[in-house]
Amino acid sequence: MRLANKTAVVTGAGRGIGGAIARGLATEGADLVLISRTREELEAQKTAILEANPERKCLLIECDVTDEASVKEVRRKTIAEFGKVDILVNAAGISMVADSEKLATENWQKCIDINLTGTFLMCRELGEEMIKNKRGKIINITSVTAHAGIPMRAAYSASKGGVMQLTQTLAVEWAKYNIQVNNISPGFIITEMVQKLIDQGIHKPEKLSARIPAGRMGYPEDLVGPAIFLSSSDSDYVTGTTLIVDGGWLANGYL
Ligand code: NDP
Repeated sequence: MRLANKTAVVTGAGRGIGGAIARGLATEGADLVLISRTREELEAQKTAILEANPERKCLLIECDVTDEASVKEVRRKTIAEFGKVDILVNAAGISMVADSEKLATENWQKCIDINLTGTFLMCRELGEEMIKNKRGKIINITSVTAHAGIPMRAAYSASKGGVMQLTQTLAVEWAKYNIQVNNISPGFIITEMVQKLIDQGIHKPEKLSARIPAGRMGYPEDLVGPAIFLSSSDSDYVTGTTLIVDGGWLANGYL
């Protein structure tokens, strides 16, 4: 129970990586604020969390992270319910795959708005509460596309590269408030987002797996241990860094 008496706000918590991390944090004792735009998915996560951990509290908030007023409401409701926020995980995100020469400006903007601006808004609003308490952990979910060029990912890579640098800046700025801000960069994780790309023939699982030293694509549960580490006091001297969780894909210089 490394997160007993902690309050964790998780965006993108309705499914996939955010859902798995939320369930994992609850197992370690955290109470949860689950955020996405789809009520039914949040309800399903809450049911799973309470079945496994009946003593946990779970607040659901429908929120589009690009909507500043809604993000401020997340802050207000979180403080009204729990009085504080200890952990913020920014997992809300969308993919955007297009040849760069054909990438529509509105799609570029949508990707930047959700992945980067949404992350900033959440950090700013919940970060101010952490500053008041002189304590906090922020985990931003970036991507291996922030580290390496992948074709047709101009908007997505730029958004995730932006998140990486946002994290570093906040880590430096907020270290004096005892707030640690770190990234997790997942590799290729089988979620609804990636399954759609597999179905469209954009991702070829066998080809991808062959290039991953671990020999397989990831599962959302592969992110849970790293997220618990970065949420807990085990990582109090870790800030401004990126934990790459990709089965060795980035390290692999072969093929
Ligand atoms: P999913 O599509 O499975 O889940 C995305 C989550 O984000 C959903 O809960 C979705 O809910 C929520 N979301 C999307 N847009 C918004 C929004 N505007 N406001 C609030 N919530 C939103 O994706 P993954 O679990 O795969 O991805 C999670 C994060 O991990 C993303 O940031 C993604 O970029 C990143 N990532 C994923 C990788 C992978 O291989 N899967 C690899 C590297 C990074 P709803 O649509 O209902 O709002």
